[in-house]
Amino acid sequence: MLCLSAKGLLPRIDAAVFADTQWEPKAVYDHLDRLEREIAAPAGIHIHRVSSGHIREDALDPDHRFASMPLYILNRDGKAGMTRRQCTGEYKIKPIKKKVREILGYPYPTRVPKGVFVEQWVGISTDEFHRAKDADVKYMRNVHPLLDIGWSRADCVRYLTSLGLADTPKSSCLGCPFHGNAQWRTIRDSSPDEWSDVVEFDAAIRRGNARANATGNQLLGQAFLHRSRVPLSEAPIDHVTAAEWAALQAQDGAPDAEELEAGVVDGCSPWACRGEQPEPTRDDFGLTA
Ligand code: SF4
Repeated sequence: MLCLSAKGLLPRIDAAVFADTQWEPKAVYDHLDRLEREIAAPAGIHIHRVSSGHIREDALDPDHRFASMPLYILNRDGKAGMTRRQCTGEYKIKPIKKKVREILGYPYPTRVPKGVFVEQWVGISTDEFHRAKDADVKYMRNVHPLLDIGWSRADCVRYLTSLGLADTPKSSCLGCPFHGNAQWRTIRDSSPDEWSDVVEFDAAIRRGNARANATGNQLLGQAFLHRSRVPLSEAPIDHVTAAEWAALQAQDGAPDAEELEAGVVDGCSPWACRGEQPEPTRDDFGLTA
């Protein structure tokens, strides 16, 4: 959408906002720098980089209240669960709304007068039209330009390729539990340092986040980044074993083969969050600590 706007194929936007969890792959930051330099700046579009903090460091900091990531839980009785996802709201939606209010000239806690709003473009393509939603605040009105021009994901990829941006990486936290096996393999095979980083993080959250532990809200089971609920370093990211497949099928909301490989379909989009959790939710993770 930024490219379409900068090139005049869509109306000129006033600003773009990138919500930074500070734990994106290096490829995403490199790509953002390039977009800024080659596309946005020449068109006079400013990209605001906003952040609520460093999601990885916050999870491991006993002094920091942590907005939980959607971790896979193995309870002591062997039952599978999942922690509630709060990170998208904290690390993406919150800083974007804060910036939008600043752009409008009514920073929090100033009340935004009735009738004052931004048009916020959300990049949902025709293959995922069901994810399009209205904004939940009056000072934002969601617009879906890709739906309006009838573009699918393939159309977007073709257009990016024509601009020399075929290698546009997918944005998400390095250690996001929504990754499918393909994303885990890409990290492992293309970026050893980032792989060590996520393996280390996976081990560090085994007993839950640091704040919960520090305040006595220890996890009674174990937490994992990979859906198989085994340590990431040993997880079957090259293939799904027969035993894992059988175990997954026995759970409510079991994933299909596509989801195991490519990741949770709805992933982490601030404005098109999934309405439901993929698996049973566990709330007592020290989330209120
Ligand atoms: S990418 Fe994953 S871990 Fe990061 S904010 Fe989104 S859901 Fe949370």
